[in-house]
Amino acid sequence: MANSEPKKIIIVGGSLGGLFAGIVLFRLGHDVTILERTQSGTLIDQGAGISISTVVPSIYESFKSLTSSGSPILEFFNEYDRTGTQYYVNLPDAMQFLKRDGSVKATITGKVPNASTSWGLLYSLLRANFDGRYEEGFIAGAEGREGDGKAEYRTGLRVCEIEDAGSDQVNVHYEDNSGKKSFTEANLVIGADGPSSSVKKLMQPEAERTYSGYVAWRGMVREDLLSKETENILKDNLTFFYYKGGHVVIYKIPGLNGSTSKGERYANIVWYTNHTPSELQDILTSTSGKIHTFSLGIGKIRPEIRDRQRLIASSILPAPAAEIFQKVEQPFIQAITDTIASKAVFMNGKVMLMGDALAGLRTHTASGTSQAAMHALMLEKVFESGEIELGEWDEKVLEWAAWVQKMGVQMGNLAQFGEHPQADLTSPSNL
Ligand SMILES: Cc1cc2nc3c(=O)[nH]c(=O)nc-3n(C[C@H](O)[C@H](O)[C@H](O)COP(=O)(O)OP(=O)(O)OC[C@H]3O[C@@H](n4cnc5c(N)ncnc54)[C@H](O)[C@@H]3O)c2cc1C
Repeated sequence: MANSEPKKIIIVGGSLGGLFAGIVLFRLGHDVTILERTQSGTLIDQGAGISISTVVPSIYESFKSLTSSGSPILEFFNEYDRTGTQYYVNLPDAMQFLKRDGSVKATITGKVPNASTSWGLLYSLLRANFDGRYEEGFIAGAEGREGDGKAEYRTGLRVCEIEDAGSDQVNVHYEDNSGKKSFTEANLVIGADGPSSSVKKLMQPEAERTYSGYVAWRGMVREDLLSKETENILKDNLTFFYYKGGHVVIYKIPGLNGSTSKGERYANIVWYTNHTPSELQDILTSTSGKIHTFSLGIGKIRPEIRDRQRLIASSILPAPAAEIFQKVEQPFIQAITDTIASKAVFMNGKVMLMGDALAGLRTHTASGTSQAAMHALMLEKVFESGEIELGEWDEKVLEWAAWVQKMGVQMGNLAQFGEHPQADLTSPSNL
């Protein structure tokens, strides 16, 4: 596979994972087309905080055998960014736990992620480095260089079938928003189409995505809109509040258009709450009455659901967390789920899975983006240097994903259904 002839590569899914892979492969001289089912611009709506490092040091260590530095996101941009953009906020090395009365219960240093970014900033930066033609992006496109292949990003196209066309060919069938069907040929297809991956369903119909029993309410508020009292407690620390049946995580991320200036940055909040499947269905029924399965984007939460959650926030959360949640104008909801493929490579190496399509990890390990960047960095070792054989890719990525997934399940279940050591078990006084 090493130093192979230029291939025609189709990447299914144009979020962070698809873009990481697309950049590596077109820079190796391949002809890469990303097919993304949503229309241009709508992807940015997922914007929220992303930790650059992971909260579990042993996981961080384990990256080192697969990449060289131990931080796949930093390593990726060190090697592939041609724009020189500052894409993260440096945070102090402190993790703090709040009591219900809003005071700090404990502070731990030496074990926390030291940088964070946002989905929107990473997406803009990756598009600038891939095709440079993202109209709503705020980073100028990078110049092409000799040796680059082709990079094309096509939107509004949903991949629905992958057909083995013999030898080194695969036919990728897709449909546009009007239902019009077409197909294109490829030598390699990479499924980077997320935890509900169509590519995974086509290759492994038995693979499931299961609801874990709780959801994350997410959103962000500009720092300068927060009260002095809240800012004095938060500072730039990674802040947690654990209580019986839920927990909250707060951290600072870059602001609008990637601004890292103090005041313009966002305080990003993630609040995990437990719900039965029927409660989940109610929460995920949108303003238009459509029932969503696993997430509800910005502007789609019914006002009565949002207002009820704001009331609960003021009743049970410490004041700094309640204030942020009240001030989030457009919260969105993500059900926490588990999914993992049992194989990563199919059709004699002509179809691969990567990122969340391979394994959707719980957010507690902050490893999803790192996993996708690591997969992309490993592609170079498969398709250029030949350091990793495809069979080894399959084995390594699955072994790693299974291990991190197990850790995420343990962390989430302890926080939501067990008794976290830092939990404040006092009853809320104003319920
Ligand atoms: C709000 C939010 C916060 C997060 N926070 C963190 C964090 O703090 N730390 C961290 O490491 N990770 C975090 N993650 C996870 C992280 O964003 C993902 O792990 C990472 O982006 C890799 O995802 P992906 O590209 O593999 O899949 P996804 O981001 O799910 O993208 C899949 C893409 O495929 C497209 N698609 C799906 N089906 C088809 C089809 N049939 N045809 C064409 N296109 C299709 C979808 O529209 C989507 O654009 C977060 C994710 C979200 C949404």
